Amino acid sequence: MKKIKQGTVVALVANARGEIFELDGYTAVGMAGVFQTPISPGQTIQVPYGSELMMLPERRPRVYNISRGKIETLYENPYTPGQPVFPVAVFNSPGYVITQTSAYEENEHAGPLPLFSYGAAGWYQNGMVTTAICIDNEKRQDLRLMKLEKIQEGVEKMRIKMPHNRLRAHLENCALVYGCPAGKNFFLGRFEAPLPTSKQCNSSCLGCISLQTDSQIPCSQSRITFTPTADEIAEVALAHIHRVKQAVVSFGQGCEGDPLFAAHTILPAIRKIRAQTIEGTINMNTNASKPEIIEELFISGLDSIRVSINSTRKACYDTYFRPRGYQFSHVTESILLAGKLKKHVAVNYLNCPGFTDSPEETTALMDFLRKHPVNMIQWRNLNFDPLRYFQTMSKAAPHTPPIGMKNLIKKVRKTFPEIKFGYFNPPKEKFQHLKA
Ligand code: SF4
Repeated sequence: MKKIKQGTVVALVANARGEIFELDGYTAVGMAGVFQTPISPGQTIQVPYGSELMMLPERRPRVYNISRGKIETLYENPYTPGQPVFPVAVFNSPGYVITQTSAYEENEHAGPLPLFSYGAAGWYQNGMVTTAICIDNEKRQDLRLMKLEKIQEGVEKMRIKMPHNRLRAHLENCALVYGCPAGKNFFLGRFEAPLPTSKQCNSSCLGCISLQTDSQIPCSQSRITFTPTADEIAEVALAHIHRVKQAVVSFGQGCEGDPLFAAHTILPAIRKIRAQTIEGTINMNTNASKPEIIEELFISGLDSIRVSINSTRKACYDTYFRPRGYQFSHVTESILLAGKLKKHVAVNYLNCPGFTDSPEETTALMDFLRKHPVNMIQWRNLNFDPLRYFQTMSKAAPHTPPIGMKNLIKKVRKTFPEIKFGYFNPPKEKFQHLKA
């Protein structure tokens, strides 16, 4: 029988210098939208390797005062009056779905938080813990396996192999400057290589990491400034496919717009790759807004698509993606088309506790999965200010108290056992739907 974890998850706060410490007498509190509850040990895991701890500026921590038996806001360190304290959060490493966010309230003049996800944190049995569940334990982006000197060796090799390839040069910057794990894996010759191509996009996602036009939020990286040629794309892709077993090469990266806008160069690139080899999986991460182009890409040899969706309810989708010149119905049309052509479809499900696990979102998702040929759900923490996201989504549609991310994932797994869960784009050798 599973041992029930006993004891208290002690609250963690930070001082103005960013030093993090536990507060005896106070239990950590988790937040799901506007719903806040004390965290119990059974809801936590040890903070995964490679995760980052953050203090949240312009905000006050919400903690559970054990002696008073209630959740309260801390305006100062109860043990050092006058010393301000700040909430602490965990930006969990890839493959871990947060079930509750850090609990806090904003100061009067607070600005939006930068583009990260903010898992709740606590101190338990002499270690840092967080409210998260492991959805994918593949070592694809495990930093312990991505040594800098090995990456630099790979960069040298590729410089010699393709000196004039601008895409290779762009990926060098991704790997060495932005620290992009996909860029690093290209030079390490592991798993999945990125093929960014597009300067444009017809969405304006609130949390776009490559282009923020109307917000105070800084971008995590700049958007690619050129369109690689079909030869440059094919050269990079083939270099990866020829040296990596079950290789994946993916269009649609964080440093670009939507690859559908570069179809004029991607189509001939895919044909060049497939003219040389049937090995490797050619994938596209996309907003899937152009079904007619998606069809051409599939016919030319594209193996799979990963479609980004924050909600299957049009009002909430439109509020986050702010589509220009397309409708959510174009996205669902692309998914149905992929199913008809027996191509692999993954949903890049941008999740945020309080919203994603609300009964309204849950019902909509279940209905969507009944009607659309989805082979995989990649549960991806939304990198966006959780409180502002919930407030914005609540203007778009009503939300009642959440059922919990764990319960949501269990419910989907039970109802759709054929749908694979994970975090990373699978190679075609692992496509389940072709085996059915
Ligand atoms: S679909 Fe991608 S590139 Fe386009 S706005 Fe959204 S995050 Fe940015």
